[in-house]
Amino acid sequence: MSRRKQINCAYCDKEKLSKNEIGLNKKLIHRQIERMMCLTCLAAYFETTEEDLKIMIEGFKFEGCDLFG
Ligand SMILES: [Zn+2]
Repeated sequence: MSRRKQINCAYCDKEKLSKNEIGLNKKLIHRQIERMMCLTCLAAYFETTEEDLKIMIEGFKFEGCDLFG
């Protein structure tokens, strides 16, 4: 049994959000956020594109943020 709880998107049917998706939720919205969004829903929420969010993730990784892997 895995200790890591599987996190699904709260807004669509996507299951098992990646570490980067979860990191972005925490980074952009709130550290203690309970309703996580997948990349697609995050993009819609922030009126941007998934591609831009991926670039953002790379930027956070580059800064050495431990929320991203
Ligand atoms: Zn979603």
